[in-house]
Amino acid sequence: MSTNQPLPRIAVHSLTGCAGELLVILENLDKLLPFVHVTSFPFAQGKNEIRPVDITFVEGSVSQPHDLEKLTELRANTRWLVAVGNCAVWGCVQRAGCNHCSVQKMIDAVYGTNSPIEALPAAPLDHYVPVDVKLSGCPIDATQFLAVTANLLRDHLPYVTHKPVCLECKLKENGCVLIEKNLPCLGPVTAAGCGALCPSVGAACYGCWGPCEEPQMEAMATILSEKGYQLDEVLGRLQAFGAPKELFVRLEKS
Ligand code: SF4
Ligand code: SF4
Repeated sequence: MSTNQPLPRIAVHSLTGCAGELLVILENLDKLLPFVHVTSFPFAQGKNEIRPVDITFVEGSVSQPHDLEKLTELRANTRWLVAVGNCAVWGCVQRAGCNHCSVQKMIDAVYGTNSPIEALPAAPLDHYVPVDVKLSGCPIDATQFLAVTANLLRDHLPYVTHKPVCLECKLKENGCVLIEKNLPCLGPVTAAGCGALCPSVGAACYGCWGPCEEPQMEAMATILSEKGYQLDEVLGRLQAFGAPKELFVRLEKS
């Protein structure tokens, strides 16, 4: 990179989320600093201004009216918009509640019927604006984050796999905890990216990366039933991470 050229500008912002992705980004920022100019990262710098940038990373779901206003402004001021983390990509736990109950009912139950609190049904970023890259995870994987950023800095839209966790698990030559230990592993219907973290230590995947591309829900349900698991309980873990309720509709009918 020529020293005469200005560095690419990046911004890191948050909507409704737990800041887990912001911590991962902060922990890895030193690796990016020689190559970028960070114009705004309120979690780290306290500067909350929105200015035109090359890449904006956004954590959190759209759950409040001011989230939507901020997201619209961020989209209008960035070339690439990257949704970071399960909240931004799927809506995560905030959306799980909205799958079962209206937002107003939840506000009334928690704060009383005359509460001034305003909320939207929690939704991922692409429900409202175009998203260029979706980096799932709860929280995201640092290596995947750095690889995606390196591609964008070279002006390449990166490929992010949404194949199942089983793929990474097999590449690591792990034994299968679903077959060998009868654990309720959701790897076959969960998106890869974590490096099959849980099965690699002998534990079942509980779906924190969100659903994979074309998840075979009926086949997963059949296997879990054959092993004696309650589908509500096991597949409910995917819903807890914001998997859309449409994925479960056919199962409910069968
Ligand atoms: S342990 Fe889980 S993720 Fe690994 S191959 Fe078996 S079902 Fe797939
Ligand atoms: S729950 Fe599944 S997707 Fe999440 S870290 Fe574990 S193996 Fe990966």
